[in-house]
Amino acid sequence: MTANKGKLPELLDNLQLPAYTCPGGYPLFYLDGHDSTLCPKCATECLSNDTPSLRPVACAVHWEGEPLSCEECNADIESAYGDPDPIDLGALSKLSEGA
Ligand SMILES: [Zn+2]
Repeated sequence: MTANKGKLPELLDNLQLPAYTCPGGYPLFYLDGHDSTLCPKCATECLSNDTPSLRPVACAVHWEGEPLSCEECNADIESAYGDPDPIDLGALSKLSEGA
């Protein structure tokens, strides 16, 4: 297990794994025993999976980059700071200034 993956957080009052850090509100994703990405909802559902390797084992914040997709339900897991490169807003504003 690498250093940037944390242990599973405690369940919320509604017995769900949290989708965001508290405090901070950064988006969390989960990894199962096969290093598959799970959204918080699927991770919660897999907590009681009959196959231990399919249960979530680690949790991490998705800081930046393209959205991850859950390998169970294909839900997007947006990053906290978005994708740094897809559209260069600085370049776009320079273009409009020069026009
Ligand atoms: Zn999912």
